[in-house]
Amino acid sequence: MDFNRRQFIAGASIAGLSSNALANPASTDVAIAPAPARKPYRTIAVEEAFATPEQFDAMKKLIESGGDYDLEVRAWAAHVADPGNRRLAVLLDMDGERLAEMDRVGLDMQVLSLTSPGVQAFDADTAVAVAEIANDRLAEVCRRHPGRFAGLASIAPQAPERAAKEIERAMTTLGLNGIIVNSHTGGEYLDAPKFAPILEAAAATGAAIYIHPRLPPKEMAQFFTPAKDQGKLENGQSLSKSFTTLMGFTAETLLHGTRLLVAGAFDRYPNLKIVLGHMGEGLPFLSWKLDSGYEIFAPTGLKRKPSEYLRENFVFSTSGFFSPSNAKFILEECGPQSLMFGVDYPYYSMEDGMKFLSGLELESSAIERISHLNAESVFKIARQE
Ligand code: MN
Repeated sequence: MDFNRRQFIAGASIAGLSSNALANPASTDVAIAPAPARKPYRTIAVEEAFATPEQFDAMKKLIESGGDYDLEVRAWAAHVADPGNRRLAVLLDMDGERLAEMDRVGLDMQVLSLTSPGVQAFDADTAVAVAEIANDRLAEVCRRHPGRFAGLASIAPQAPERAAKEIERAMTTLGLNGIIVNSHTGGEYLDAPKFAPILEAAAATGAAIYIHPRLPPKEMAQFFTPAKDQGKLENGQSLSKSFTTLMGFTAETLLHGTRLLVAGAFDRYPNLKIVLGHMGEGLPFLSWKLDSGYEIFAPTGLKRKPSEYLRENFVFSTSGFFSPSNAKFILEECGPQSLMFGVDYPYYSMEDGMKFLSGLELESSAIERISHLNAESVFKIARQE
């Protein structure tokens, strides 16, 4: 019996089954510590959230100031007001439960980024300060746990020139791996001319920009809110769940990515890489349609077909979107370099993400690309072995 269980455990690890199943065996006659479900290939998850005490302190100050603050901070208000809040504890934890769970499910590395909206709801000076401290903390945790964490630096788009300097510092002095931008900043998008220093610095340093969803500007939110919930929005209550949990995050982030493409950002910065999570926020699915529009109407003045930018300037991740058919579609439409594994921890579970990755019915070369090779390339993560 014991021998058979051990055989089962060894086989299960190779098959990539979650160790959770192993921790709760049907038979309880012997106690065997659950073996980590090691994968035969490295596993890197690229959209994994953390937070800093300074970020939450700045949110608290904003809330206490009583002004007409950002919808997203409003959504966080109940969390940051409660010091015992579980969500905050998980986001602030770097060394305990997070690493233990990575070990348990066999996830080698998380690429960390400050949880949405990062610093983008703050005034410029606060945003710059909170971003710098967060980046220092991020670099420190990457050094403390070599091979387990990489990091995307936060910047304050509110102050484009200072943001450009921070990109430079993050990518050189701190040795971080890219940039996170939580979509709009005060209702403005990165294609606006004022943000050119940010795109320029990213292209110059080879920093991929991960455009992460956030709640929309208030003006947009009203159109994504069903009539029955409009009153809640006007009364300043949390935005209707219909925006966040259905298609609202995706719609707003898709808009951002498409704006950059149509604005010719990749003609100006041919090396610029934009990363979109959640299976590309719908953008890969529009590839044929974008080309068709370009052929028929040709109003854009772009140098290339939209699908070419999708293949060469965009990379997508599986964060919070564990659909094998969507993964296969992206590989077919945009190519094997276009997809990276992501979980969206702690908002989605590492275990569910790892089950999805293990269950992908693809050639091993494609699995390796998704699991680590593309992330190593896009985010300049040192290869192993
Ligand atoms: Mn996320």
